[in-house]
Amino acid sequence: MATHAQDILIVGGGITGAALAYGLAGSGRRITVLDRQTPTNRASRTNVGLIWVQSKFLHLPDYARWGFLSSREYPALVSELEALTGLRIPVQFRGGLIPVLSEAEYRQRGEYIDKLREVLGEYRGGMIERAELDALLPGIRFGREVTGAAWCEEDGVIDPLALLRAFRAALPRKGVELLDRDVLDVQPQDGGYRVVTDNGIYEGGTLILAAGLANRRFARFALPSLPVYPDLGQVLLVERMPYVMPIPVLGATQSFGGTVILGFRHENAGHRMTIEQKGVSGEGQWAMRVWPELAGKRVIRAWTGLRVMPNDSMAIYSRLPGHANAYLVNTHSAVTMAAAHARLLPPFLLGGNLPETARGMTLQRFGFTC
Ligand SMILES: Cc1cc2nc3c(=O)[nH]c(=O)nc-3n(C[C@H](O)[C@H](O)[C@H](O)COP(=O)(O)OP(=O)(O)OC[C@H]3O[C@@H](n4cnc5c(N)ncnc54)[C@H](O)[C@@H]3O)c2cc1C
Repeated sequence: MATHAQDILIVGGGITGAALAYGLAGSGRRITVLDRQTPTNRASRTNVGLIWVQSKFLHLPDYARWGFLSSREYPALVSELEALTGLRIPVQFRGGLIPVLSEAEYRQRGEYIDKLREVLGEYRGGMIERAELDALLPGIRFGREVTGAAWCEEDGVIDPLALLRAFRAALPRKGVELLDRDVLDVQPQDGGYRVVTDNGIYEGGTLILAAGLANRRFARFALPSLPVYPDLGQVLLVERMPYVMPIPVLGATQSFGGTVILGFRHENAGHRMTIEQKGVSGEGQWAMRVWPELAGKRVIRAWTGLRVMPNDSMAIYSRLPGHANAYLVNTHSAVTMAAAHARLLPPFLLGGNLPETARGMTLQRFGFTC
C-alpha cells in the first residue's frame, strides 16, 4: 500500500472533523481529513440543526458559556463560508423558543433560567407570556394549553446539511485534502501516527480523532475505554407546510423547506437504531398540544441517529494520555459548537492551551493524565 505523509491527520469528516479542519487550514500545516460515511456514525447527517444554547447546563456553567461563545462566532463563520464557497447556508440567528404547557411549567422553567443567569452572570433571555409568543410567531396558532415560552436571543437554527456541505467544499479551497477512506486502524509510530485505510496508509506528526462514536475504537492505543456512549435520537418528519417559524421551537422545529421535525428524546439504547413507537409518540402528542395544526398533517419520514455523548454530557477536548500530539474531540451538540470548534479550538490543536472557558474539558476530569 502507498504511504502518504502529512503534518496533521484528522480521522472523521463529519461536522466536527470538517469544522476543525476548516479552522486549522491556513496554519501552514499539510492537513488530510479521512472520512467515510458509516451506518452508525451518522449524527452529522441526521440532526435538527439547532444552534441551541438556552436553558441548559446549570450544573456545567463553563459548558453553558462555551455554547454562548460558539453562537456568537456563528454569523461571521457563515458569512465566511458562503463567500468562500459560493454556497448558500440557510440560517436564522433570531433566537429560540421552548413553549410551556402550564403555569407550573412556566414557573419551573423561569426559576431554572434565573439560576442560570445568576451562575453565568449574563443570560440574554427569559420567560415570555403567551401574548408575546403569539406576536413573535404570528403564523402559528398555538394550543390553548400553551402559557408562554422560554426565550433566548442567542439560539438559532441552521440547515445542518448545507453547513456540512459548505465546510467540506471549503476544505480543498483552503488547501486541505479531504479523502473518502475507510479508516481501519490508528497506531502511534516513530513519534507520529499511522492511519491504515482501505486505500493507503497515512502518516502524520499530529493526529486528531474526530470520528464521533468511532473514536472509542481509534483511541484504544492510548485509552482502553473512552467515556462516550451512543445516545439514541428518534425523529418524525411532518409534511411540508408554509414557512411560519423564523424563530425555531425546540421539539417541533420547522425546517427551511417547510417540513417539521419532531422529537427530542434521549435514550441510552446501545447501538439500536430502529424507531420504536414509545420513543416518539409522547413527543408527537406534545407537539400537537403545542401546535394543534400538526394533528391534521402526515408524518412523511422517520429516522434515528446516535448522538455522541460523553458520560458526563460535557465536551471532551483533550490530548490523549501519553501522547502530546494526539487529540480527541467528542461532543454531543456539535452543530451548536461548530463555530467554536472552527474558530476557537485550533490554537489548542496546534500545541497551545485550550481557551479559558474550555480548560476543564480534557480527559483529566475522568482521572486520566494528559
Ligand atoms: C436526532 C439528532 C438530533 C440532533 N440535533 C442536534 C441539534 O439540533 N443541534 C446540535 O448542535 N446537535 C444536534 N445533534 C447532535 C449532533 O448531530 C452531533 O453532536 C454531531 O453530529 C456529532 O458530530 P461528529 O462529527 O462529532 O460525529 P459524527 O456525526 O458521528 O461524524 C463522525 C464522522 O466520522 C466518520 N467515520 C466514522 N468511522 C469512520 C471510519 N472507520 N472511517 C472513516 N470515517 C469514519 C463518519 O462517517 C462521520 O462522517 C443531534 C443528533 C441527533 C442524533
